[in-house]
Amino acid sequence: MTEHFDAEQADVVVIGAGLAGLTTARELSNRGHKVVVLEARERLGGRVYTEQRLGQTLELGGNWLHWTQPHVWAEVTRYGLEVSRGPRSEETYWLAGDEVRRGNLDNFMKLIDPGMTRLLEDTVKWLPRPDAPLTVENLAEVDRYNLQEMLDKLDLSEDERNANEAAWVGHFNAPLDQCAYVNALRWTAGSSGHWHLMHEASAIYRLKNGNDGLVNAIAQDSTADIRLNSPVTSVRHDAAGATVSYGDGQEIRARKVVITLPQNVLHKLDVEPALSEGKLAPSREKTASQGVKAWIRVKGPIKPFFAYSAQDKPLSVIRTEFVSDTDAVLVGFGADANRIDVTNPEQVQEAIKVWRDDLEVLEVTGHKWGEDEYAEETWQIQRPGQLTKYHAAQQASEGALHFASSDTANIWAGFFDGAIESGLRAGRLVHSELQSDAELQSAAS
Ligand SMILES: Cc1cc2nc3c(=O)[nH]c(=O)nc-3n(C[C@H](O)[C@H](O)[C@H](O)COP(=O)(O)OP(=O)(O)OC[C@H]3O[C@@H](n4cnc5c(N)ncnc54)[C@H](O)[C@@H]3O)c2cc1C
Repeated sequence: MTEHFDAEQADVVVIGAGLAGLTTARELSNRGHKVVVLEARERLGGRVYTEQRLGQTLELGGNWLHWTQPHVWAEVTRYGLEVSRGPRSEETYWLAGDEVRRGNLDNFMKLIDPGMTRLLEDTVKWLPRPDAPLTVENLAEVDRYNLQEMLDKLDLSEDERNANEAAWVGHFNAPLDQCAYVNALRWTAGSSGHWHLMHEASAIYRLKNGNDGLVNAIAQDSTADIRLNSPVTSVRHDAAGATVSYGDGQEIRARKVVITLPQNVLHKLDVEPALSEGKLAPSREKTASQGVKAWIRVKGPIKPFFAYSAQDKPLSVIRTEFVSDTDAVLVGFGADANRIDVTNPEQVQEAIKVWRDDLEVLEVTGHKWGEDEYAEETWQIQRPGQLTKYHAAQQASEGALHFASSDTANIWAGFFDGAIESGLRAGRLVHSELQSDAELQSAAS
């Protein structure tokens, strides 16, 4: 065993101060362990990124949550956070070929219902227990399909196809032929098999005062030492613990380390002995998540609306999130960040002309998650085969190293809920290992 007498000592180092890392740190520090959190950015939250922009409290990262998401909802209750929602749409637009159709949200939901119902009818067969997603032994048989090929099999009419595809781009933020079909089953299984509920769970309710309220509440409810601007550069581990190097060459020695990096950046971390292929391979393959989220302020007054186009457009979905007498702020999603610069008002103005040429874009904003060196992805959507090949390995501890991330959660992977689920699990496992080590030591002395 290598001795590290000079390095600072901690019981646990947590790498990353997103929801997974902060939850882990809260659980462990409140059980009496000395915890240091090392966060590369100058802010907490990771892919939760709340800012005052365009005159509103905007979520540049994760936005919505729901009472069907048990872990995040428990936190909402614990901290007494207020929940609200955007305005109900009074108009809905969609495309049949290049022709714009207009109706209400109910008309649109009826249009996509047959496709959604048929696409998702086997949800319970494949995922009877979303909390244990590998329960069905032959899940790999269905995990080889991408969402596009499953939609193609339905042989939908053109407007039904456009509408279903656009709705899925809103959900999956990626080209549909790169997304595992199993993602759709997992989201629906988390909603007890009901696709309407799945739509509501993923995109309606938000924290009234911003999601940073949740991040700050968890951070403040912890005695961990949280260090910002502290990118971890290497982790050296052995049977007795690990040495973590960060910032400008600082080192901490810890008995356990919890790594919470997003799937797409994990392989960049210098770890020795190296992480298993079950973790590195999916990180190099990357998630499918490569799309955009755009915030758009337009001249008002306008009626609240929802609009779906088709999956190959720069923006496949837009809708009003805030409306006033003078302006409105819309949120939009597209499958591929290479098709549109969400910080360029001209490009966004052009993109929304697919539905409406009566909207005047005043300002736009967004965060380029694909170019963000500490994320390189939006919300996790797996590629075909990734769930069945890597899920168990991604969660597994490796010696002194433990792992937590929304990307590897069981129920709502890719959501706030999954981040908290994974942080609770890592906190419990690390605590029990530290306790057993302490018991062994005291028995030996
Ligand atoms: C645009 C967008 C929209 C979304 N919409 C929703 C939504 O509506 N509802 C929902 O539930 N979820 C949504 N999500 C997903 C949700 O935000 C994430 O799943 C969740 O916040 C991830 O938490 P995490 O802690 O697992 O990862 P992260 O938040 O990514 O935390 C990982 C942390 O590790 C840090 N880090 C990385 N490398 C290093 C290093 N070398 N050293 C130190 N620190 C490092 C990062 O800076 C980061 O803070 C969305 C995400 C995005 C980007």
